[in-house]
Amino acid sequence: MDKYLFEAAKLLKNAKFAIAFTGAGISVESGIPPFRGSTGLWSKYDPVVLDINYFHTNTNDAWKVIRELFYDFFGKAKPNPAHKALAEMEKRGILKALITQNIDNLHQEAGSKEVYEYHGTAQTMVCTECASKYHSSDIDLSVLPPLCKKCNGVLKPDFIFFGEGIPPEAAQKSAEAAENADVFLVIGTTGEVMPASMLPQIAKQNGAKIIEVNVENSNYTNHITDVFLQGKAGNILPKLLEAINRV
Ligand code: NAD
Repeated sequence: MDKYLFEAAKLLKNAKFAIAFTGAGISVESGIPPFRGSTGLWSKYDPVVLDINYFHTNTNDAWKVIRELFYDFFGKAKPNPAHKALAEMEKRGILKALITQNIDNLHQEAGSKEVYEYHGTAQTMVCTECASKYHSSDIDLSVLPPLCKKCNGVLKPDFIFFGEGIPPEAAQKSAEAAENADVFLVIGTTGEVMPASMLPQIAKQNGAKIIEVNVENSNYTNHITDVFLQGKAGNILPKLLEAINRV
């Protein structure tokens, strides 16, 4: 068995409070590109469309890109073996919770239950006037912008835009999980998006061992990572699960 895989499996098997933390990289093999890097969405789109002030002042233009990125195309993605392996780890009591920066709902679709959505979700929309919530699949996006059925206010996806705060409940639960973790499994994230990027640091400062899965080095790899498993999450995580069975 690969030495690092064995080390990571042993840490997870002996952990009392293991937490997973995922970024856009875990959904790449489901067909969703990350934001950063040469194949990232920001090489094609201007990130300003996800700025909250731009959304309020150029609502239609922002919505056109949002519809294309998060509803036409995210909507068709399915969980991959990495999402499924994490759901199985929770089912077996190995993982206690999962913090995700993703807004694609793929962890829940794979069967994960204790999921903290640090950046919110694309699954629901919220009225910018009266705060009514709607399931996104009930909203007709053929006419933009979509409007609230109760007050005619503009609807906004229920994920956070640049310039908005972290949803309070997810922020609190994630911080608690990071503080209490003895093993923190970081998957597919550059560690560049604040304040989410602080969570592995908080875990480390509180004594957690950091296991990292990524195709390339991140901001964590040479600083706080204890065991680096280099490769695609969809390949590594099922192998890690298998290794846990054997240690
Ligand atoms: P990022 O785009 O900054 O970085 C992606 C990371 O994934 C990189 O470190 C890359 O090396 C790694 N990666 C790429 N393919 C991988 C694979 N197959 N297996 C393992 N790792 C792989 O992503 P981020 O740090 O999560 O930050 C971007 C922000 O954008 C997030 O906060 C998130 O909210 C949002 N976002 C979400 C989605 C989604 O919901 N699926 C997609 C794009 C962006």
